[in-house]
Formats: sequence, C-alpha cells, structure tokens
Amino acid sequence: MILIYVDHDRGEIDPLAAQVATMARSIDDDVQAVIVGSNAEKCVDELGKFGVTTVHHGVDDRLADYTPLASARAVLAVMERTSPRAVLAASTPRGNEVLGHIAAIRDLPLASECSQISLTGADTAEVSRARWGGNLLERSKVTGDPLLATVQAHAVVAQEAPVAASTDAFDVPLTDADLLVGIVDRTGAQATGVGLAEAKVVVSGGRGMDGPEAFAMLEELADILGGAVGCSRVVTAAGWRPHAEQVGQTGTKVAPDVYLAFGISGATQHIAGCKSAKTLIAVNTDAQAPIMTHADYAVVDNLHTLLPVLIEKARAAKGA
Ligand SMILES: Cc1cc2nc3c(=O)[nH]c(=O)nc-3n(C[C@H](O)[C@H](O)[C@H](O)COP(=O)(O)OP(=O)(O)OC[C@H]3O[C@@H](n4cnc5c(N)ncnc54)[C@H](O)[C@@H]3O)c2cc1C
Repeated sequence: MILIYVDHDRGEIDPLAAQVATMARSIDDDVQAVIVGSNAEKCVDELGKFGVTTVHHGVDDRLADYTPLASARAVLAVMERTSPRAVLAASTPRGNEVLGHIAAIRDLPLASECSQISLTGADTAEVSRARWGGNLLERSKVTGDPLLATVQAHAVVAQEAPVAASTDAFDVPLTDADLLVGIVDRTGAQATGVGLAEAKVVVSGGRGMDGPEAFAMLEELADILGGAVGCSRVVTAAGWRPHAEQVGQTGTKVAPDVYLAFGISGATQHIAGCKSAKTLIAVNTDAQAPIMTHADYAVVDNLHTLLPVLIEKARAAKGA
C-alpha cells in the first residue's frame, strides 16, 4: 500500500494531490491518504476521484490551518497502523517539510522532487529527481522502509480513477510541543480568479515591465485569456507583485498550455518554474536573452508598445 499526505488550505485541497495520487497508483493499486484538520471533510470525495480507497482523517480543531509537526505526527500514527511500502507527498514547501519531519523522527532518507519512482525490493527503490533547479536529472537508489518521497509538480498528468473512498476518522496523538509551529496570522491579498499552479494560460512579467504600474496590462490580458498573472523574482524582490505570483525554482512551478513571458531574461531559476509549459512565448527587446532559446515563439519587441496591441487583438478575438 502507498500512503499519501494531502495538504489543504482550510478545506481547499492542494491541486497537486491528484498528481501525487496518480503517481502512487503507478506504483501500487492500493493507495490511501492522510489529511488533517476538522475542516478537511470535503477533500474525501476529491481523493476518491483519483483512486484513493481510504482517507485517514485526523480530526482535530487545532489543525484547521497548516501545522507541520502535528501533520507529521498524524502521518506517523497512520504509518504505525498500516505499514505502507511508501509515503508520498507533493514536492511543495509543506510536503517537503512534513515528510522531512517524518524522516528525522524515523531516521529514514527522504527523496524530494521525484519525477519517477519504482520500488525495486523490500526496502529499496530507484527514483529520478530534479536537482539544481531542474538542470540536472539525478537517478538515485534509496534504501529505507517505507520509502519517503515527494513528487515533483507536473511530473505526471493527473488521471481520474473514481472509487468510493471510505473515511477512517482518528484522533491525532499530539503533545503541546507538536503545536509550537503553526500559522498565527494571514495577511495580504486573498487569491482571486484562476490559481497560478493550475492556470492554462500564464501571463508573466519581469524587470522589463519597469515597475508595478505596467502589470495592469498583464492583469487585463490574463483576464481576457482566462489565465493568471505570474512574475520573476526581481519583480517580487522589488515589491511590485506578491511572492505568491513568483514563477521559478523558489516560486510556483507552472505547467500551462501557454506561458507568455514579458521582459523576463530567462535565468535558469525562472525556467525551472515554467519549462513544463506546452508553449512558451517570450517578448524581449534583446534577441540574445536566454529565454529566447527556450521559447517556441520569440518576439523581439518592446513590451510597452506590444502589450496594448495584444490586448486589443485578444479582446477582439474573444468578442469581449
Ligand atoms: C537561489 C536562487 C533562486 C532564485 N529563484 C528564482 C525564481 O524562483 N524565479 C525567478 O524568476 N528568479 C529566481 N532567481 C533570480 C534569477 O536568477 C534572476 O535574477 C531573475 O529571474 C531575473 O529576473 P528578470 O528576468 O525579471 O530580470 P532580468 O534578468 O534583469 O531581465 C529583464 C529582461 O527584460 C528585458 N527587457 C527590458 N526592457 C524591456 C522591454 N521594454 N520590452 C521587452 N523586454 C525588455 C531585458 O532585455 C531582459 O532580458 C533566483 C536566484 C537565485 C540565486
């Protein structure tokens, strides 16, 4: 059996959970999941859609928001009872943190950012995983029972395999120390519109936008195309846009049908976040910018004069 840890945000399931369940099913037919927090009930049906047969639900009001060590305790409690062959999670900061705690407590290795996983023996596995921002693909042998691994975003395409998932509600054995790290406050803009990680179109801006004002044009274009706005780290570091919109190694990894990059040079750390796009369109005044070699369509132009024209054409094409 493969056990997956599923993160959620106040009941909204992590969209990557479907991919993790799909990866787990490619290893073993029996896939079970752990979720925590008394507000997580609505994730159960969603997990059933992706072939998860049993959802172990750690019901506890104190875990309504993400609580890393307590989540690890919940997974450990289920591991004790069910002896899974592998425990997987999405390779997000949270997934890596929870499995990192489990690895430390159980003194087991953790393979993060895996794009392929095969169990080769009772306590051995082979994994392929992205290193150095995706520039190096490493194949590793891992010894540990169970295997602990996190799954790289968009390494697999989520495939539905509907089953009626049953729920196993349980009390999470917690001490006060398990609750020392948790979310105490949430500030900043609440996400609206299409989520960056699952958007089919991402309209992204970099330093070439010359300031926060020009992002109004990207918002407009994203709105017409039904997409989301993204940006480079220079942009978030300058405070032009929130970190939630950063695409890249230390931001969100996206896999849209179309990624439009305006005034982004294409540093390896940025490409690490958008290389799964089906079509990459780059607009840059510099024909030699690295992003132009990655782009399916490389447009050498000034974004400030091109964007108003694009918006007008997109609006006309959509009849909006
Ligand atoms: C550990 C680490 C992690 C990192 N993680 C990330 C990450 O997650 N995401 C990320 O993005 N970066 C990340 N970076 C930073 C990365 O190395 C680059 O510095 C950054 O991506 C550059 O941002 P940029 O392309 O917007 O800016 P620049 O590199 O300055 O490029 C600006 C581009 O705009 C073009 N331009 C200028 N004016 C115009 C115009 N009018 N019209 C059209 N084009 C124009 C220029 O020709 C240039 O190519 C990381 C760096 C490190 C060290």
